[in-house]
Amino acid sequence: MKIRKLAALGLTLAMSLSMFSSVAMAEEETETETEEELVITEDIQEIIDRGILRVGVKNAVEGFGYQDTLTGEYSGMEIDIATMIAEELGVDVEFTTVTAATRTELLDSGDIDCVIATFTITDERRESWDFSTPYYTDHVTVLVKDSSEITTLEDLVDKTVGVSSGSTSARSLVEAMIEAEVISGDDYDADTFDAALWTEGVSFRQYDDYPAISTALEADEVDAFCVDKSILAIYKTEGRSYIDAEFAPQEYGVATTKDSGFSAYVDILINRWLEDGTIDGLIEEYALD
Ligand code: GLU
Repeated sequence: MKIRKLAALGLTLAMSLSMFSSVAMAEEETETETEEELVITEDIQEIIDRGILRVGVKNAVEGFGYQDTLTGEYSGMEIDIATMIAEELGVDVEFTTVTAATRTELLDSGDIDCVIATFTITDERRESWDFSTPYYTDHVTVLVKDSSEITTLEDLVDKTVGVSSGSTSARSLVEAMIEAEVISGDDYDADTFDAALWTEGVSFRQYDDYPAISTALEADEVDAFCVDKSILAIYKTEGRSYIDAEFAPQEYGVATTKDSGFSAYVDILINRWLEDGTIDGLIEEYALD
């Protein structure tokens, strides 16, 4: 009996010791791994030498990228992510307001180091830019005037919809209408789809920015305004409603120059903040869930 007890004690001790050492080892490995992975490549060194991380952000998407018109201060989850990346690099952060139409040009020209601006990750875009692991998923919907009596995808048949140039919105709406079987989609080809040319069951007018679409909706130049729900929120004023459909999940990622060292650096940080609850904390702080 005594021997058995002692043996059991020995086993427990051995188990807890080995558990302790494997925990310690795991911690050690993670630390070394993280240190090894956050490599300062030449492009990152340029940012560090400049002392400023230049980030393209939205200025009218509440909770994501929003600029106070009086103070000029930006706030939101995407602003915080940008600030945290800059802190990690030990540099200041500088924000440039971008739109769906301008964000990639500014990144390509080197005016900004990354885009953190409700930028949806798509396979097509991945061919031109790197995207981090997604930090948020939104959906697309449609805003209409209550007086239009449009409430469903079906009601949008033969209507004209305002979308932003350079956005996923028109394609998302057409795919949702085909899926809901309210338009046939016989002529739909994902590879060649062009919002400006599409006329089968619904047509589009493209605008450079969202205030312009909102004005067009008010003036009945378009019957509806389609984009991500996060972006539409600020334009959902009295007498306007969303239709009864949300579709096309939009995964937002940080976009960086293709194959740059900074892409890998940013992705490690986003993954770290996804794992340690920082991103969830921001979603909660800005009431984005
Ligand atoms: N998130 C969508 C996109 O990337 C909507 C456009 C926008 O972000 O302004 O296309």
